[in-house]
Amino acid sequence: MTQSYFITCISNDIDKYPLTEKYIDKFINDNKTVLEKDSTVSDVLVLHPLKAIRIPVNSNDLSLKYNPVEVSVNINNYDHFKPKLMVFDMDSTLIYQEVIELIAKYANVEDKVRDITTRAMNNELNFKQSLKERVSLLKGIELPKLLNDICENQIVLTKGVRELIYFLQNYKNTVTTTKTAVLSGGFIPFAKYVQNILKLDYMRANELGLTNHGQTLDGTVIGEIVDGQYKAKTLVELASINNIDIKDTCMVGDGGNDLPAMKAAGYGIAWNAKPIVQQQAPSKLNSDTILDILYIFGFTKQDIDQVLSSI
Ligand SMILES: [Mg+2]
Repeated sequence: MTQSYFITCISNDIDKYPLTEKYIDKFINDNKTVLEKDSTVSDVLVLHPLKAIRIPVNSNDLSLKYNPVEVSVNINNYDHFKPKLMVFDMDSTLIYQEVIELIAKYANVEDKVRDITTRAMNNELNFKQSLKERVSLLKGIELPKLLNDICENQIVLTKGVRELIYFLQNYKNTVTTTKTAVLSGGFIPFAKYVQNILKLDYMRANELGLTNHGQTLDGTVIGEIVDGQYKAKTLVELASINNIDIKDTCMVGDGGNDLPAMKAAGYGIAWNAKPIVQQQAPSKLNSDTILDILYIFGFTKQDIDQVLSSI
């Protein structure tokens, strides 16, 4: 039988949970009944010693009996998959922070913002209402000072982000370089900052209303609000304007509002997401470096090192 799918196992922490031979044997033995049904499991492919492996299988519909939480396990048919369009959420995905929390702290309205977030989580408010309420608390803040404080001192890129983008833009298995985008439920000036440092092709985020010759926040949001549906719609649009087949797109995010885009994309990855998001996402990765996405796509450590050595 041809084995056209792969189970990819990526250790969430190579130091704490190395994928030793013993560990891999346990995974295979404990899933024996499921795996043997349609595959021989003799060919374990090592993508990165102790960190990432692949097991060829015939079906993408396997309910594994043993699915350890310390390992990100996904099934797909990718062999050196390089998306033609790669779309990222921003807060807690491309960067470690939630920018709205940083702004709230700057403006001394943390408690009020937290109350609104809690009400939104209890479904008393939808995302659009909660965003508007939160932004109304920011009226009067001077934008240049805020931007300077948050972008220069507080935003930190997620480990592996620069390398992942570099790989996607430079690995040549096709003539196409990957188009990249950040879709943020946050605000344009901050998303633009991240877009610029990562040299991403596209950026979408919410527009803050400004007064005083564009210097001061007026407490409003202008235009269509970037929520889950907007992200999904934008992903489809970006694929279409670049003549990219939707199956060649990938969305990465950590929040519930990234799920529609993850589902609209050819492939969706929940990055260090809450359990409820992970359950609904097409695939998941819980790791300390976002570069590990490349193992889900079937690349080896050697492939990655080769491209990154030319940085
Ligand atoms: Mg997020």
